Amino acid sequence: MLLGTQRVNARGHLEIDGCDAVDLARQFGTPLYVMDEATIRERCRAYLAAFRDRYAKFRLAYASKACLCAGICPLFEAEGLDMDVASGGELYTALQGGFPAARLVFHGNNKSEAELRLALEAGVGRIVVDNSLELERLEALAAERRAPIDILLRCTPGIDPHTHELVRTGQVDTKFGFDVNGCAALTAICRALQAPGLRLRGLHCHVGSQLLDTEAHEAATHVMVELLAAVRRQMGVVLEELNMGGGLGIRYREEDRPPSLDAFADALVHALQEALARHDFPAPTLIHEPGRALVGEAGTTLYTVGAIKEIPGLRTYVSVDGGLSDNPRPALYDARYEVLLANRAAVPPDTVVTIAGQHCETDTLFPDARLPALRPGDLLAVQSTGAYHFSMASNYNRYPRPAVVLVADGRADLLVRRETYTDLVRNDVMPERFRKG
Ligand SMILES: *Cc1c(COP(=O)(O)O)cnc(C)c1O
Repeated sequence: MLLGTQRVNARGHLEIDGCDAVDLARQFGTPLYVMDEATIRERCRAYLAAFRDRYAKFRLAYASKACLCAGICPLFEAEGLDMDVASGGELYTALQGGFPAARLVFHGNNKSEAELRLALEAGVGRIVVDNSLELERLEALAAERRAPIDILLRCTPGIDPHTHELVRTGQVDTKFGFDVNGCAALTAICRALQAPGLRLRGLHCHVGSQLLDTEAHEAATHVMVELLAAVRRQMGVVLEELNMGGGLGIRYREEDRPPSLDAFADALVHALQEALARHDFPAPTLIHEPGRALVGEAGTTLYTVGAIKEIPGLRTYVSVDGGLSDNPRPALYDARYEVLLANRAAVPPDTVVTIAGQHCETDTLFPDARLPALRPGDLLAVQSTGAYHFSMASNYNRYPRPAVVLVADGRADLLVRRETYTDLVRNDVMPERFRKG
């Protein structure tokens, strides 16, 4: 499976938008996260077009927790997207990346007062209020300010999507948001509408992630429009924004079949139009905030093969120079991937091996990779690692985090420098009483 701008070049190497993977590994070292600019831009445009062709009032935001560093922000800005941030650190990074604050949407189920202040001082466009404590904090902060604070309320539609437990967020039993089925959502909406310094612009929900069908999104659309209609009926207010979150799945393996953007937009806009017609409700601005669907397939991770251990009749372990610290998804979500031999990419696979990480535990990355026979020094490429890989990386075992490069039309720009051993001890403090000499 080749994705985006990937191809096999005349040297038999994997190439990503004109950059030879072997050259990238030589220049930047491994493990290496490679992000393909053309694929990111193409996904942004295709997502926007799929919805705008069917529904004029549509806005797209990039959920930056999928992959965020300063240098990636200009891409989303240039493509006309808004951007989601879900912590003070993401907000700070987006601002460092020059992203316009007014196009930022601030999420989080436990925003601190300091984070809320940072967001207000920066002038973020929307704060998505998750709970009553946050509503109280914002009311207090609003009293110190002249301009009203634009908010959305995060609601929980009570929809249980078909996806991994850790990325389900739309069901009743979740830490996120105000419950629609009880009366928490209506109560919070009523309170937000009455709060003097707050301007409630609309409602938000996010049902889950890596969804491979449209069912949960469609069901949530019906619930949310019904809630908009109830607000109008009970409070006489027509809310004008409906943010339906992200969650569209991508291809990690050849057999994964996420809906196409056109099929996805078709189903969702159809559900929305139907629900609006049923309640005779005026069309709100529809907002989506995908992360994975925009950057997931645009990322490739390169590893160098090291030790190979064959257990006759049982299994062959191939260790690579990364693992749990640069890709926790196999451990967290039982995630599966396609793995290619980047330096002999035209050779057909004829063995099945288990690719192991190098951490001090059984950090199996890919239990059943189909590859040609491997030798130490070979270069492996793992597909669809653009979302939730770099952003979830850790320093477990004190491995420095890998570099991130952006490739575009034969050039490669460093987005994040590889950490050094010096970086690893930068914040370590030796107590005075232990110091020698
Ligand atoms: C994580 C998240 C998203 C993006 O999810 P994807 O599955 O990457 O599209 C969108 N909205 C909210 C509130 C999120 O927490």
